[in-house]
Amino acid sequence: RAKASLEERICYYEKGMDESARYRRQIAGELRSAIDRNEFYVLYQPQRSLKTQMLIGYEVLLRWQHPVRGLVSPAEFIPIAEETGEIFRIGEWVLREACAEAAKWDNELVIAVNISAVQLSQPNLPEILAQVLLETGLPARRLEIEITETAIIGDKARALHVLRRIKAMGIAIAIDDFGTGYSSLDTLNSFAFDKIKIDKSFLLLSHDRPQARAIIRAVLALGRSLDVPVLAEGVESNAHVDLLEAEGCEQVQGYLFGRPGAAPSLATLAIASSGG
Ligand code: C2E
Ligand code: MG
Ligand code: MG
Ligand code: MG
Repeated sequence: RAKASLEERICYYEKGMDESARYRRQIAGELRSAIDRNEFYVLYQPQRSLKTQMLIGYEVLLRWQHPVRGLVSPAEFIPIAEETGEIFRIGEWVLREACAEAAKWDNELVIAVNISAVQLSQPNLPEILAQVLLETGLPARRLEIEITETAIIGDKARALHVLRRIKAMGIAIAIDDFGTGYSSLDTLNSFAFDKIKIDKSFLLLSHDRPQARAIIRAVLALGRSLDVPVLAEGVESNAHVDLLEAEGCEQVQGYLFGRPGAAPSLATLAIASSGG
C-alpha cells in the first residue's frame, strides 16, 4: 500500500511538472504577441517625501491583461519573459511608454522604471535608454531605473560597467527590494546607488517581528552613512508611518499613499506640485 501511494505521488508530481512546463511554454508563446495585441499597460504608483508629503515621482508597474486568463501578475510572467528573452522587447516597451507619459508633465517628477537583471546583461542598454530619452524628450535627470541585487550577481563586472555608463548619462539608479538578496552589503559596496528601496517585507512584518524593525533602522543608518536616500516600500498603515517617522525615513511608497493607478492627470499633477 505504501509503495502504491508513493508511486501515485510520483505520478502526480510528474504530472504537475508537465503541467507547469506546459503552462510556461504557453505563456512564453503568448507573451510574444502580447505587445502587438496591446495587452500590456502600465500603472503608476506615487513615491512621496515622508516629511512634507510632497510627491517625488512615480514607479511604473507593468500589467498584462490577457484575453482569456485575465490580469496576469508581473511576478508570474516577468520570469518567463526573462527566460525566453522576450523581456528585452517588453522592457523597452515599458520604458518608452513611461518616458513618453512623464515627458508630458510640466514638472520635475521622477519616473522610476524596473529593469530586469537580464536587461542589465545587455551591453547596449545605455544606448536604448539614450534613444528612448531622445525620442520622448524626457530629460535624463527625470528617469530613475530600479534594479534588484540579483541583477549584479551574474556577470558582476559587466553589470557594473553598464550601470556606470547609465549613471554617467545622468539617470538615477535605485537598488530595489534591498535586503532580500544574498549579498546586500557587497552590492552597496560595489556601486554608488542613488537610492535604496527597503523591501516591503520588512515593514509588513515589523508589526510582529522586532528584528524587522531593527533591520529597517540599520538600513536607514546605512543610508545616512553612505549619504544615499532611503525609500520604504509597502507603507500600508499609520502604524507604519509612525515607525518610519521615529526611525527617520525620508521617502515612502505604499497603498496608504496611493495604489498603483492610471497615469496621473495634468490637473492632479498641478495640485500635487503646488503642495496639495
Ligand atoms: P517591485 O518593483 O518591488 O514593485 C513593488 C510591488 O509592490 C508592486 O507589485 C506594487 O504593486 C506592490 N506594492 C506597492 N505598495 C504596496 C503596499 O503598500 N503593500 C503591498 N503588499 N504591496 C505593495 P506588482 O505591481 O505586482 O509588481 C511585482 C514586481 O514585478 C515588481 O516588484 C517588479 O519586481 C516586477 N515588475 C513590475 N513591473 C515591471 C516592469 O516593467 N519590468 C520589470 N522588469 N519588472 C517589473
Ligand atoms: Mg521596483
Ligand atoms: Mg521593490
Ligand atoms: Mg519586488
